[in-house]
Amino acid sequence: MRLENRIALITGAGRGIGRAIAERYAREGALVAVADLDRASADDAVAAIQATGGTAMAVVMDVTDEQAVEAGVASVVNNWGGLDIALANAGVQHIDPVHKLAYSDWRKVLDVHLNGAFLLTRAALGQMYQRGGGSMLYMGSVHSMEASPLKSPYVTAKHGLLGLCRAVAKEGAEHRVTSNIICPGFVRTPLVEKQIPEQARELGISEDAVIRDVMLKHTVDGEFTTLDDVAELAVHLAAFPSAALTGQSVVVSHGWHMQ
Ligand code: NAD
Repeated sequence: MRLENRIALITGAGRGIGRAIAERYAREGALVAVADLDRASADDAVAAIQATGGTAMAVVMDVTDEQAVEAGVASVVNNWGGLDIALANAGVQHIDPVHKLAYSDWRKVLDVHLNGAFLLTRAALGQMYQRGGGSMLYMGSVHSMEASPLKSPYVTAKHGLLGLCRAVAKEGAEHRVTSNIICPGFVRTPLVEKQIPEQARELGISEDAVIRDVMLKHTVDGEFTTLDDVAELAVHLAAFPSAALTGQSVVVSHGWHMQ
């Protein structure tokens, strides 16, 4: 097992990519805090992990709420004695062209991705510095490297996370904290399922055409990235034993973006 007894907290882990990583981390021996806005899905993910013999706890928190994030991290430390891995994964999407985008929608997307990642980072680093090391991880996207129409706040936020990840890699080094960002292509989670009809409507094309000609057009094989693909990378980054791998963005996208 590659993460035996490591203590991990993952935001947005009630469903989708975060949940897949939480389940994989638990199978690799980690104690996993499933943090989510939605209590029912967090409880469900915890029950699924416990049913397979893993160790997990639910942390109900909104990543944009400063007090809630501080309290959520503190509850993990009180329960298990520390924090080794923190993954800022919670995310939302909003589809609109820039000229019609409401300021409130712009702010909401940036708030969850960027401010949420900052709040988790600050709370987690306090613990990791005391403990003498750790792994900060961020959920970026191919949209950390590329732009697509109709997704300006998301693209902006995902580009911004590269900066936070790199700044943390520099500051964290003397405390043996590494910082890396995972950049997936399209994965069929609820977040993406919702976009398919929305984009079809905005672009005036069929849903099949959105998948084939928009989402997967630039992949090498016309395939979606899978939850397993992303979870495997998340284990690799968290388990990597030295600062040889820090400040890096790793793209897992079936060749959509090559760097
Ligand atoms: P999802 O919508 O399936 O899951 C997101 C989870 O985040 C949900 O459980 C939701 O309750 C939680 N969440 C949302 N706002 C929150 C908040 N303020 N506080 C706490 N929890 C909150 O999404 P997903 O596809 O699993 O995406 C997870 C991450 O992966 C996001 O950062 C997303 O941008 C990124 N990503 C997704 C894809 C993809 O194709 N699905 C590709 C690249 C990157």
